[in-house]
Amino acid sequence: MEQLDLLIKNGTLLTMDTQNAIIKNGVLGIKGDIISTIGSGGGMEFQAKRIIDAKGGLILPGLINGHTHAAMTLFRGLADDLPLMEWLNNYIFPAESRMDEDFVYAGTLLACAEMIMSGTTTFCDMYLFEDEVARAAKEAGMRCLVGEVLYDFDSPNYGKMENGLKYTEDLINKWQDDPLVSIAVEPHSLFTCSPELLSRSNELALKYKVPLIIHVAETISEIDEVKKRYGKGPVEHLKSLGLLGPQLIADHCVHLGEEDIKMFAENDVKAIHNPESNMKLASGIAPVPAMLKSNVTVGLGTDGCASNNNLDLFAEMDMAAKLHKINTMDTTVMDAVTVMRMATIEGAKALGMGGITGSLEKGKKADVIILDTKKPHLTPMYNPFSHLVYSARGNDVTHCIINGQLLMEDRKLLGIDLYGIMEKARQKSKDVRRWLKF
Ligand SMILES: [Zn+2]
Repeated sequence: MEQLDLLIKNGTLLTMDTQNAIIKNGVLGIKGDIISTIGSGGGMEFQAKRIIDAKGGLILPGLINGHTHAAMTLFRGLADDLPLMEWLNNYIFPAESRMDEDFVYAGTLLACAEMIMSGTTTFCDMYLFEDEVARAAKEAGMRCLVGEVLYDFDSPNYGKMENGLKYTEDLINKWQDDPLVSIAVEPHSLFTCSPELLSRSNELALKYKVPLIIHVAETISEIDEVKKRYGKGPVEHLKSLGLLGPQLIADHCVHLGEEDIKMFAENDVKAIHNPESNMKLASGIAPVPAMLKSNVTVGLGTDGCASNNNLDLFAEMDMAAKLHKINTMDTTVMDAVTVMRMATIEGAKALGMGGITGSLEKGKKADVIILDTKKPHLTPMYNPFSHLVYSARGNDVTHCIINGQLLMEDRKLLGIDLYGIMEKARQKSKDVRRWLKF
């Protein structure tokens, strides 16, 4: 009889494997941090230290948030509905310039609590003081790919640009053997980073075989600025600097043309789609159906909480599915399975983690969530993918397991003090009010 650390039973397994296999009366066994058994309950005999009854709910891989700025939870609802430059210059930038380590740590812990409670098990972050982001994620038990934001001007964290590359290299070395935290090199964008900084960032990423992550073609004004400075569009600019390659993860990709998409596909560049942020900031609509048609790997992200204003990937999936339907006036684009894959296995592949997470398969890391489907808005259920994309919400998630560790049970966080985290966030909001004098 097989000895397990954790056994989940009595639910429908959505594996998100290559066949999108659904296993009724599913059983999932975990040994250490690994999924050691997966199958149908009939005839399977196990002994487990701990058994979780999914009570007829859905068992699925934890969701992958492909792009966020986690600590921006502390700016949630600070200022909305303003012209973009007014929002940035009068609120976000002045507040960010006053932040310190503790602020980012507190905001990231809050983000982790929100993500775990809405079924996200892996997130990809770009911000300042990323060592604190890594520390908070590790404390919360979340899997993450994080990197210090790099740009030409001085940073409140590392000072001169030169130090940013050094800081990133130190992060790579410090966290290289960590089971949960991975590091990326993250120049902010083409309009805030010189060609030299971009090239050096790419060299660093290639040297250590870590991802290179950058915002690309998010707004029209960015396109205009890059064209004005370099006489070419953002993707051509990336190409001319030798940055297009499988190491590159491009966030947003709103304003891409056919040629850009072709270059992404040819060079195996990964894209992260952030529909809610793109809508809220009136950035535009990314050509995701066209990217998928060209076999570009596309993951899904929430972006930061100042432009979303939550980290709930269930809401993001719903929006992604609908936005492209109205944009193309075609109800068949971005079907529920496609969108669900973007939030799971395709997102994992985009972050270079497709081999370890994003689907429920034997031998992968045990990143698993359970959804309670005994809710009016999930009754009846003809098709679980439909419910997950169009009806479910983050608070339907009852259990969250990351790397084999049970982090939420029946909606109670086990590893971190939720009320303490929220209290600290409220304290930090007083600093924000003081900084911005309101
Ligand atoms: Zn962003």
